Amino acid sequence: MTAGRLRVTAAGAAGTVTGSCHHVDAPEGELLVDCGLFQGPRTLEDRNREPFPFDPERLDTVLLTHAHLDHVGRLPKLVADGFRGRALAAPGTREIAEVILRDAAKIAAEDYERALRKARRAGREDEVAPPPYDEEDVDRAVEAIDTIGYGEPVSVAGLRVRLRSAGHVVGSAWLELEDERGTVAFSGDLGNRESLLHPTAEPVAGARAVVCEGTYGDRRHRSREATRAELKEVLARAADAGGRVLIPTFALERTQAVLFEIGRLQRAGDVPELPVFLDSPMATRMTEAYRARPEAFRSEVRRRFEAGDDPFAPPRFRATASAEASRELNDLDEPAIVLAGSGMMTGGRILHHLKHHLWKPTTQLIVVGYQARGTLGRALVGGARSVRIFGDEIAARAEIHTIGGLSAHADADDLKAWLGGSPDAAVHLVHGEEDALTSFRDDLRGEGRDAALLREDRPVDL
Ligand SMILES: [Zn+2]
Repeated sequence: MTAGRLRVTAAGAAGTVTGSCHHVDAPEGELLVDCGLFQGPRTLEDRNREPFPFDPERLDTVLLTHAHLDHVGRLPKLVADGFRGRALAAPGTREIAEVILRDAAKIAAEDYERALRKARRAGREDEVAPPPYDEEDVDRAVEAIDTIGYGEPVSVAGLRVRLRSAGHVVGSAWLELEDERGTVAFSGDLGNRESLLHPTAEPVAGARAVVCEGTYGDRRHRSREATRAELKEVLARAADAGGRVLIPTFALERTQAVLFEIGRLQRAGDVPELPVFLDSPMATRMTEAYRARPEAFRSEVRRRFEAGDDPFAPPRFRATASAEASRELNDLDEPAIVLAGSGMMTGGRILHHLKHHLWKPTTQLIVVGYQARGTLGRALVGGARSVRIFGDEIAARAEIHTIGGLSAHADADDLKAWLGGSPDAAVHLVHGEEDALTSFRDDLRGEGRDAALLREDRPVDL
């Protein structure tokens, strides 16, 4: 290795949004930025079983930008494959990663058992690959995660590394890697400047090169005020209708943003104080992790903590942990708001609520996140008249509303604002579908910037 060289090789999330993992060959060792899971089509998910294109035993450190599965999901496999170093992350990431990794391991084990039973009946059990890791690997991966504060310099493989706040989810960071020639930055996932919960990401100042995400490099989000007005209108209408309000939710970030806003609107008297139930054990655990990090939030949220309130608990709030408490909600005889997973209505407790209430015209279904093609959520948003849930045909008579501005991701303007502090930096784009990345690259080049897509087969020297 040449002294002073900083060679970056993508091992995921190049030309796609999942599997974030970048290998860095540094002056005094090797490190990784993120170690995420590939998610989506089968061909992509099969990559989670492939050997890493580097030797895990030789790695000094893994720097984690945040706890989303597409950024930490292969850490247990890395440990299983021989990694013995430490993983460094911002406060909150370890707790959230533990919940996410355990849930993913459980789902992978269940999927495997199901596939195996099916394959046995066909006499093809050899063709079913076991999950890439098990519960024990998850224990060791979580054990390997150490926390460092934002801005606190640490020495890694001959570099000075600092985490900077990214405003995406609790514990999210972008990374500053400093050598004798200056600094190189990795964006991780950057937050939406119009986030209800988080302050804007710290801008990247004076970097010579940046590895930057481009998830929504071709989009513009709605403003915070517009999103708030929309949610207020829908909740007021829902209260008038007098039925059940169902909000399919994503456990991390979206749940807490929606709970915060419902509580704010109810306390301000802008919408009636309906009871609010969080019917998701995973989202409840995430909300606890959020509650433990008051410093992570915008001043508006922090003020509620300072006043001794829980910003994520509306006035009549209850988390229903047990399956029995969840079932009891079916018999509840007053209008109520229920948040339950999964966010795209592909599984989880929301399906029980939909089965009981989707067919009633007084029910309001509020969709607060992206619905991928092929999901029940997409079918309902697309206007399906009836759907199948647990084998039964259920009429879709509920009123369906979509709230668009709650994304936790930076849009094109947010990304440009962040990059603005380093006008001369070469920008290497990752973490986006090909169309979003090329559109953002052309946009940057149009402004005279040096920008290109990072490819897995083409390492770059930064
Ligand atoms: Zn993320």
